[in-house]
Amino acid sequence: MADTETQGNSLKDIVALCKRRGFIFPGSEIYGGLANTWDYGPLGVELKNNIKRTWWKFFVHDQDNILGLDSAILMNPRVWEASGHVGSFSDPLVDCKKCRERFRGDKLIEDAGGDPVGKTLQEISAMIQAMKIKCPSCGTADFTEARAFNLMFRTFQGVVEETSTAIYLRPETAQGIFTNFKNVVNSLHPKMPFGIAQIGKSFRNEITPGNFTFRTREFEQMEIEFFVEPGTELEWHEHWCAKSREWFESLGLAGDKLRFREHAAEELSHYSNKTTDVEYLFPFGWGELEGIASRTDFDLKRHQEFSGEDLTWFDQEKNTRYIPYVVEPSFGADRTVLTFLINAYAEEDLGEGKSRTVLRLHPKIAPVKAAILPLKKNEPRIVEKARAIHRAVRNRWNATYDDTGGIGKLYRRQDEIGTPFCITVDFETVEKDNAVTVRERDSMTQTRVPVDSLVSWLAERLD
Ligand code: ATP
Repeated sequence: MADTETQGNSLKDIVALCKRRGFIFPGSEIYGGLANTWDYGPLGVELKNNIKRTWWKFFVHDQDNILGLDSAILMNPRVWEASGHVGSFSDPLVDCKKCRERFRGDKLIEDAGGDPVGKTLQEISAMIQAMKIKCPSCGTADFTEARAFNLMFRTFQGVVEETSTAIYLRPETAQGIFTNFKNVVNSLHPKMPFGIAQIGKSFRNEITPGNFTFRTREFEQMEIEFFVEPGTELEWHEHWCAKSREWFESLGLAGDKLRFREHAAEELSHYSNKTTDVEYLFPFGWGELEGIASRTDFDLKRHQEFSGEDLTWFDQEKNTRYIPYVVEPSFGADRTVLTFLINAYAEEDLGEGKSRTVLRLHPKIAPVKAAILPLKKNEPRIVEKARAIHRAVRNRWNATYDDTGGIGKLYRRQDEIGTPFCITVDFETVEKDNAVTVRERDSMTQTRVPVDSLVSWLAERLD
């Protein structure tokens, strides 16, 4: 939590809004919390589900050649030996010798303006010394040598806590896709190239989590492993970069706060021949939302070697057999939620000393699509009509009914949670025209819409 409090105002404002309006709460709060854990509240879960749903629609249902999967979090420990996670999924850990606080050595260098990319543990230690980097907690410049800290959470399966029963919480969803490659091929018979997509929780024992939900130890990923014929992978890498851009832009994330940054040679993982990070300019600097990696045949080759199963693909037309290459677009669901919240947040001066906080969320991901507001809560004709409209609207979208304040206050409340439309039922509705006033969140314009065509009017703007 300390991290968020020391960041720029705008992250602080987002954290406050999230708590106040039920988007995201500190985890285990009534017990004093558990550092860097967060719970999605009633509006947060709607927003996150909407994001995951639009992602699934765009990347799975709307593509010709992507199939879905939901694999187990707990996997045979051999998976993590094959994937390289047991041997090398680590960050360089240094301890402050004075206050004993622990840090990621590479991040200390980065924060001090240096470039730790591609550096060995020894080189990181040397840079920390040469740059005279001070401990962010106590100000002393005296760290231990950097050592590798494995980020996988270890736990035990069954009732005996022995090494033989030790297993890991998965640090990425990707490996469940690779281990099911053969099952998917044999059951669905896809044509090459094709992809397998999965959304699910991953766990990493991060040394320095923080910046609200940006870096946590439990998080959700939305990943695709796209299998291609060797030699075509760079074209497909470009294809998935373009698709990713299209998806972000379709939900209103564009402009100079979004960038696609290609990894330099020394930054590339040993198995990758091209990687691009999609980054957003957060209040605390540029941060990765998605990595798009061309991973060659590394993963399937390793799993073939470790499992002894044949994971080759037979190309009938060309009469050749090969291990497919893989292009992996890997998104963080929580970082995407945070990005959309930050990007949508605005404090507006309305003149005459008035202001409002508004979340300009794209209607597709807004947690509540419409609020039905009866002008008088004690007038049976208005209440009856408003309730009927609420039933009709919520039949299709998540809609709310609110009669707990004056209309101005109710508008502000809905602006703050990003509801695109407020629908007011008044005396004219029941006495004169059977129409309602629909007020639009961003422009604050008001339109009179006949009740009979309200659902189709909304559908044009929401679907
Ligand atoms: P970083 O460099 O920020 O640690 P990474 O390169 O290790 O990220 P990947 O392994 O490429 O991340 O994971 C894919 C995506 O999963 C990231 O782009 C990010 O959105 C998300 N992600 C990774 N680690 C975390 C985390 N600790 N908390 C929240 N999301 C995460």
